[in-house]
Amino acid sequence: TASVLSVRDLRVWYGTERGPVRAVDGVSFDLRPGETLGLVGESGCGKSTLGRGVLGLLPRGAKLDGEVGYQGRNLVTATPREVQLLRGPDLGLIFQEPLTRLNPLLRVSEHFEETLRTHEPGLSKEQIQHRGIEVLRAMGIPPTRYRAYPHEFSGGMRQRIMIALALVLRPSFVVADEPTTALDVLVEAQIISILGDLRRNFDTALLFITHNLGIVAEACDRVAVMYAGRIVEQGPVTEVFARPQHPYTRELLRSTISLATTGLHYIPGAPPDLVEPPSGCRFHPRCPSAMRVCPERFPEPVVVGPQTVECWLHGPDGLIPADGRDPLV
Ligand code: SF4
Ligand code: MG
Repeated sequence: TASVLSVRDLRVWYGTERGPVRAVDGVSFDLRPGETLGLVGESGCGKSTLGRGVLGLLPRGAKLDGEVGYQGRNLVTATPREVQLLRGPDLGLIFQEPLTRLNPLLRVSEHFEETLRTHEPGLSKEQIQHRGIEVLRAMGIPPTRYRAYPHEFSGGMRQRIMIALALVLRPSFVVADEPTTALDVLVEAQIISILGDLRRNFDTALLFITHNLGIVAEACDRVAVMYAGRIVEQGPVTEVFARPQHPYTRELLRSTISLATTGLHYIPGAPPDLVEPPSGCRFHPRCPSAMRVCPERFPEPVVVGPQTVECWLHGPDGLIPADGRDPLV
């Protein structure tokens, strides 16, 4: 199947007094219709910047380079107006803090009317109601609440109404950036079922940005692991979690397991400075498998089974390179 979104060598950087912050530094991935890609990594690795970058929603001053292929166009070189037109009905973003976007003076039904009238002016009042109720139902909100006001719902339900508003336009692609953080009421199981409904009902491709590997395991088809602005490993969730090929993925999985059992979440060392990232492989100062080659040369992506990995443990043919066997320490 053709990709909904095809990202190639995407770079996003911000100017600072110390020099450019390379928040996203050469990232490539594809998203197919109905597919959910989990994007994971520690705070500050560039996940949110990547999610906003592919939608053209970066703050002023951010620079963008590379390719975001969408409907035969490169969104990176498209004019702001073109991006805005495409984004309206076709691209959506579920915000981290969505509650601010519901107008307390308007009924839920009026939110749907406003959204649909703007983007699909031909619809009748009945059609709008049908679409609104359909998408609310998919989010677990009963049709009887269609005309209620935002304050009549719990925080978790308002979150789901926001998701419904993003989905009522039937976008082909949605970025959901840590929707779990704003939710204290909605439990994980509900989020998982919502994501499942999303796919079944709307065939929406989803970029799901989270730090929760448990949700990724249950709700995503593929996973991309980000470190210091790069995707260091990507592949089918079951394969990556069962046989992680990058040492950082292994550490991340191990820290999650210890989080569940002992309450500790700890990978030795700190995430790198994105103004002056480490030479060669950016993970080398923290990597338990670092070799002499690692700080010297940047590991190019290689295909290892169903995964793509950036690590010198895997040579061009997925083999350990002869010159890489020397341990660094
Ligand atoms: Fe570790 Fe070297 Fe692989 Fe980087 S390239 S993850 S330092 S083994
Ligand atoms: Mg973030």
